[in-house]
Amino acid sequence: MITVTLAKGDGIGPEIMDATLSILNAAGADITFEEIEVGEKKYLNGHTTGISDNAWETIRKNKILFKAPITTPQGGGYKSLNVTMRKTLGLYSNIRPCSSLHPFVQTKHPEMDVVIIRENEEDLYAGIEHQQTDEVVQCLKLISRPGCEKIITYAFEYAKRYGRKKVTCFTKDNIMKQTDGLFHDVFNEVALRYPEIENEHWIVDIGAALLADSPESFDVIVMPNLYGDVMSDIAAQIAGSVGLGGSANIGQECAMFEAIHGSAPDIAGKDIANPSGLINASVMMLNHIGQNKVAENIQNAWLRTIEDGVHTNDIYDEVMSTKRVGTRAFAEAVIANLGNLPKQLPSVTFEDNSPLVLPKYQRKPAKNKKIVGVDLFVDWHGEDANMLASKLQKLNNDELELVLITNRGVKVWPQGFKETFCTDHWRCRYAAKDGKVLQKRKIIEILKSALEHDIDAIKTENLYTFDGVRGYSLGQGQ
Ligand code: NAD
Repeated sequence: MITVTLAKGDGIGPEIMDATLSILNAAGADITFEEIEVGEKKYLNGHTTGISDNAWETIRKNKILFKAPITTPQGGGYKSLNVTMRKTLGLYSNIRPCSSLHPFVQTKHPEMDVVIIRENEEDLYAGIEHQQTDEVVQCLKLISRPGCEKIITYAFEYAKRYGRKKVTCFTKDNIMKQTDGLFHDVFNEVALRYPEIENEHWIVDIGAALLADSPESFDVIVMPNLYGDVMSDIAAQIAGSVGLGGSANIGQECAMFEAIHGSAPDIAGKDIANPSGLINASVMMLNHIGQNKVAENIQNAWLRTIEDGVHTNDIYDEVMSTKRVGTRAFAEAVIANLGNLPKQLPSVTFEDNSPLVLPKYQRKPAKNKKIVGVDLFVDWHGEDANMLASKLQKLNNDELELVLITNRGVKVWPQGFKETFCTDHWRCRYAAKDGKVLQKRKIIEILKSALEHDIDAIKTENLYTFDGVRGYSLGQGQ
């Protein structure tokens, strides 16, 4: 008997969770659930994180969490508890299988069988945002080498374990050469260790178009957090309904299982939501905890129910459906089918589905890091970049000199174009003179001098090389 932490969530959460629990119970899952309350009520009761310390303790003790969707209240600075949980528990890998159930569930893609593996801890989901000037806000996109190595290795190991033929990577490294560039580089490095598995890379925009148009040409797709979030909703929806997709969030020690979709407040309390996403998540959980025969029984009963045409509203279709049912009635139909196999859809057999736990990340030896300049960000309400440059040149010192000004990344000095639209947020680059070794205190001198010259410096970013390779982007047009 294993103890699993249970969160019934918000919106349709309690309905789909109760439906799923009734199936787990009927199928004889050997699990004791310890329930915690998280989400909307907690947020509105003054827990800005949406979770109490006691609930954290329970989650950390039991290590496995089965969770229905949670509503993140709009505004008020509330952080998404889903994201907090994934990151705090180190659940770096989010696995989202999306397959069509043709001809029983309407889809334009009868052959679709895609697994999206989404990086779960970093990217823009670091949630580090600042307003820096009247006109400009920023969000930091953080991508780390350990983060890339962990998720990409996971994707290849997943492909190997489940007999998948190809791993595809989506990034936007033609634009984000440092962040997405690192993800792509690591993908190429890791792919070399798996010669038996085909690999390919697509720029995310055309990759997304191909996924929406011909998903049957993809197998496993690995991508950074934000793209994975967007693409997995698209993939689930084009497979039949966002209500069908289950997802596993896996870390070194803990795991969390949930539906892909959100709390669907528009249909909450009506007994019409499709519980399939959470049912599929429960199957992933049962496999993870070694109860693969129970998982198999539920998955086959679920496939049979779909095949019987017993459908919730989101997938109901005049031709293929035989009965439009609510959440509870759908669960009852699955329970009645326990022990039955699908007749047309392939039935499943789960053998070794023990957790795919990778060795702990080993930090690489540090590269030779050399400071070669600084970007000084300035809030300035003028329009003429030449005027700003003449003010900023006064900050030059014996080691640093102004070499470039950009506005929203576009070069506006020297030799900017008058057509370029400028905001009040200027990036002003000071480079070490004649490639000299720069002392960090020279950057402090620049900041002091900015203060003396009444220049509103809002932040600095040091410019480094690593083993002689530039570790920062050039300005557009530079
Ligand atoms: P959503 O996924 O809740 O709903 C999108 C659309 O899909 C709605 O029309 C909804 O009715 C439909 N839908 C979703 N699940 C369904 C199901 N099981 N059966 C039938 N139809 C279903 O997305 P949203 O409306 O953008 O988000 C609502 C809330 O959920 C927000 O507060 C958001 O932050 C939260 N959310 C939570 C999670 C999570 O807990 N992991 C994930 C995504 C969104």
